[in-house]
Amino acid sequence: MTDKERYDVVVIGAGPGGYPAAIRASQKGAKVAIVEKQNVGGTCLNWGCIPTKTLLASTELVAHAKEAEKFGVRIGSIEPDWKAIMERKENVINTLASGILSLLKANSIELIKGKGSITPEGKVTVESEEGKITLDAGKIIIATGSEPAEIPVFDFTEPSVMTSTDALALDKVPESLIIVGSGVIGSEFACIFSTLGTQIVMIELMDRMLPTEDSRISKQMRSIFKKSGIEIKTKTTVNKVLEYKEDRISVELSTGETVEAEKVLISIGRKMNSQGLGLEEAGVEIDQRGCIVVNERMETTRPGIYAIGDVIGGILLAHTATFEGLVAAENATGGNAKIDYSVVPACIFTTPEIASVGLNTDKAAEQGKEIKVSRFSFGGLGKALAMGEDRGFVQLVIDPASDKILGAQIMGPHASDLIHEVAVAMKLGATAEEIGSTIHAHPSLPEAIMEAAEAAHGKAIHLSPSRK
Ligand code: FAD
Repeated sequence: MTDKERYDVVVIGAGPGGYPAAIRASQKGAKVAIVEKQNVGGTCLNWGCIPTKTLLASTELVAHAKEAEKFGVRIGSIEPDWKAIMERKENVINTLASGILSLLKANSIELIKGKGSITPEGKVTVESEEGKITLDAGKIIIATGSEPAEIPVFDFTEPSVMTSTDALALDKVPESLIIVGSGVIGSEFACIFSTLGTQIVMIELMDRMLPTEDSRISKQMRSIFKKSGIEIKTKTTVNKVLEYKEDRISVELSTGETVEAEKVLISIGRKMNSQGLGLEEAGVEIDQRGCIVVNERMETTRPGIYAIGDVIGGILLAHTATFEGLVAAENATGGNAKIDYSVVPACIFTTPEIASVGLNTDKAAEQGKEIKVSRFSFGGLGKALAMGEDRGFVQLVIDPASDKILGAQIMGPHASDLIHEVAVAMKLGATAEEIGSTIHAHPSLPEAIMEAAEAAHGKAIHLSPSRK
């Protein structure tokens, strides 16, 4: 390989942070290259958001089919075919990956395959099987993401020990599974495999599952998981592995108990991909957790080098990576943009779904902030009952002085879609009164948001006065 010409912007990593950054920089007239060592789309498309949601679409269909008789429909035998489910997942990934490749091409962005790193002089070197090249880069955007965090208790070379990436490549459904960590990723996998008949035990260090969610959600979700046969052991850790057998693992818990399963999935968090990039020598600061330090313009401590997405820590979500990427690209091409984290919806694709934005009741209590909380249950909503989805609620956290919405938590059908009504309302500074007085179509799920907003003023029509 020979050295390439000069680029205005070189992006390292083509995940949901990197490839939109490259496109925005190109839209601004820059000559752009993007370096990727694996597949375009990053964790999100290949080992994260999209594969899990594709599998969930299949398992939700299984769950619905099992309930078909309740809807007056006889289906006969339901036979999930794991191989076909995984093939569908691959097809969805491939379709989206080819879409990204087309977009890069259409925006005249050069995709350079290989492992990128930064020289002390501020150039980008790319190593691949074909050799090593150096790119002259005006500006650099680091978007190298993260990978599953491992814990020393487990030997990850053993076939029974899995990260989320391994779980998305299984060739058969495990008959039993220990999930270490009951956060977002662990809970989504619990829903996928439990629907397919896997016996699941979840181990959680904290005193509740989904410990970063509003405690009301953790409590209700735990009882839903329990009903579906998922066992959750909170305030518990794994002390040691007692035995690795062929396709079997047994572990000793901090409670002294022994648990055995075909596989164990470790979903305790993510490790930032900030090593091996030459950052220290290039003057780019990394904090103790391995996150690249940036300011609100996504600038690192080295002028002309930006960092975005999971590798900077903070909110580890695809859409925040994208928005950070757009801010970095604006600034790398002469703009002056700042990131705004005031309204970031976050969704958990369990059954039922969970979605939240802004302040929750636990955080408000920690901060000693005075709030008004207003709720409406899906059990009181016509559309939810018609759909057979009466579990969960909408909860609004409201500023009692201004009536503005400070946050919302939704657990229930299409929570991941519904949350955006509240997100837009928050962005525009809308009050509960304004949401409640907006005519919502009937019967629809967003009526639950309207009713919760009306309930804040004692005006919800479908809430009995005793429950207000
Ligand atoms: P990544 O997506 O990790 O992309 C980084 C890219 O950089 C990768 O392609 C990698 O190969 C490449 N790279 C790394 N180092 C180098 C190098 N030196 N040279 C060249 N290339 C390099 N988020 C959501 O918002 N919604 C969800 O539903 C959701 N579900 C998830 C489910 C799972 C199981 C997991 C693991 C994550 C999920 N996430 C979800 C989180 C989401 O995937 C990440 O927040 C997002 O992918 C981060 O984007 P990124 O661009 O920062 O990094």
